[in-house]
Amino acid sequence: MNNISGKTVIITGASSGIGQATALLLAQKGANVVIAARRKDRLEQVESQIKAKNGQALVVQTDVTKRAEADRLIQKAMDQFKRVDVLVNNAGIMSIAPMKLVHVEEWERMIDINVKGLLYCVAAALPIFNQQESGHFINISSVAGLRVSTGGAVYAGTKFAVRAISDGIRREVGSHIRTTVIYPGAIQSELLNGTSDPLSHERLEKSRQIAVSPDCIARSIAFAIEQPAEVDVNEIVIRPTAQEN
Ligand code: NDP
Repeated sequence: MNNISGKTVIITGASSGIGQATALLLAQKGANVVIAARRKDRLEQVESQIKAKNGQALVVQTDVTKRAEADRLIQKAMDQFKRVDVLVNNAGIMSIAPMKLVHVEEWERMIDINVKGLLYCVAAALPIFNQQESGHFINISSVAGLRVSTGGAVYAGTKFAVRAISDGIRREVGSHIRTTVIYPGAIQSELLNGTSDPLSHERLEKSRQIAVSPDCIARSIAFAIEQPAEVDVNEIVIRPTAQEN
């Protein structure tokens, strides 16, 4: 047994990038994966890939900015699999732009998805984890949650918040519930699509030529899950070898 097989793992933002890679890897290792995001067609493609290899997957179309949808996601997982072992809070967007452009709507979107969306999912799962006396939050921050770069003030703010919330959860609920924060560096994905400022987009594209496969983040998530229940891997920083910051 690999301590992943048979576990129910909910993954938000599973329609592309890190979430998709994580769903595929954990399903291959025998987890029941509950895959959530807004794009149902993309989730169904991931589900087909999993089922083609005899894996277990449940699609729940979810916008994490809507609290009722976050509640429904956790409830659907309970209905289908009778327990929830891991919640991977991965859904997120990145809109990079200098503060002077005052892209207030983009600031709001980032806060709504990256912070409030994560909190809604935590709020839905925590009572179940408490009742089960077991559970595991895996929250995806970023190296931008450790260090602010130009144009990334608000994005970094949301990712610093993920770190603070995760550490707070760990301190308060630690005795049976595990909390892991992952800080990825540049990873190949669709994340750049969230940046509308052309100059920032161009700069990001250049700096991300060293980006590595999302599979490495999926493997780090699997590593955290497969530890024995009494071992809590709290923080993992992973960046391309060639990435300086
Ligand atoms: P992608 O853009 O490929 O994936 C983002 C995922 O979030 C998509 O599945 C998207 O699905 C989902 N999502 C966005 N908004 C919502 C919403 N309102 N409700 C539900 N799901 C939503 O990028 P990544 O895989 O790179 O991003 C995953 C996480 O990793 C993010 O939190 C990101 O900040 C973080 N990260 C990424 C890094 C990188 O270099 N790629 C580096 C550091 C951290 P849909 O549009 O279908 O809803």
